[in-house]
Amino acid sequence: QAKARGRNGYAFYAPSMDGEGVERLRLEALLRRAIEKNEIWLAYQPQVEIDSGLLIGVEALVRWNSPELGAVGPDRFIPLAEDIGFINQLGGWVLEEACRQMKCWDLAGLYVPKIAVNLSARQFDRGGLAATVERVLRETSLPAHRLQLEVTESVIMNTGDAMQYINDLHAIGVELAIDDFGTGYSSLAYLKQLPVQTLKIDRSFIKDISTDANDEAIAIAIIQLGKSMNLAVIAEGVETVEQAAFLLRHGCRRAQGYLYARPLAPAQVLAQWGQNKNARLEYSGAGKG
Ligand code: C2E
Ligand code: MG
Ligand code: MG
Ligand code: MG
Repeated sequence: QAKARGRNGYAFYAPSMDGEGVERLRLEALLRRAIEKNEIWLAYQPQVEIDSGLLIGVEALVRWNSPELGAVGPDRFIPLAEDIGFINQLGGWVLEEACRQMKCWDLAGLYVPKIAVNLSARQFDRGGLAATVERVLRETSLPAHRLQLEVTESVIMNTGDAMQYINDLHAIGVELAIDDFGTGYSSLAYLKQLPVQTLKIDRSFIKDISTDANDEAIAIAIIQLGKSMNLAVIAEGVETVEQAAFLLRHGCRRAQGYLYARPLAPAQVLAQWGQNKNARLEYSGAGKG
């Protein structure tokens, strides 16, 4: 316990003095150097069409392998990166790396139709995001429609100029998905005002979909909402065939989850999905060449 006590009996106490604070400072220092030390990499989780199993896209999920700390999850270091003003550098790196990887797969003969990249609030609320995205697309020569940016409802609701930023991104031709849909505090009114293409049903609703009547009702409502607003709907966190069957039965045709694949290293994506050439040609023939 703190020995020094002030006149009023309060202990002098700064958060940075306790174990947690020290740990955080260490984490912060290591994170700041992680990109240049090549400790940051992207895993890619396939998104599939449920009935055919075709690959319709991948979501880029950032990973940090620290020699000092081991594997640190994004739920731990993304909020930290936001707090210490490192998120723009990190987010910029993620965007570039993801688009670059798409060209690598293209060249290796694997056509991944789309890549989804998560945006954090701090990245989003800073002007200039559209310019950055435009530059990265130009430098990697990835067509804009193959990039999908994921934002959560709270990011949209808590950003003053969200509408403007999203319209700017839309003008470039990138797609927008609402991540973790249904978990934020939000009005649905924004959906009719914004050029959104995709709703991602949060995995908390998928988890007990066949046993919890409320989750079931919510999932069905989101699928219906998407349908009537002409939005694509994709379910996150699909782990069982029962969940997939339920989704299909209720008109949700796209899914992402451990049932299909875990987040994978780029070479694993190629190894596991580079085989199915006929299916791929069929798919890409329908849309792009
Ligand atoms: P998210 O964008 O909602 O990503 C989905 C999370 O669910 C991922 O966790 C993924 O590994 C996990 N997941 C996928 N399928 C299943 C499943 O079937 N079962 C279960 N239990 N989990 C599944 P991850 O990779 O730990 O990422 C956590 C969150 O960190 C992401 O949630 C996203 O909000 C954030 N994040 C990840 N990468 C980035 C990034 O590059 N930038 C930003 N700003 N945030 C990121
Ligand atoms: Mg996401
Ligand atoms: Mg999500
Ligand atoms: Mg999330």
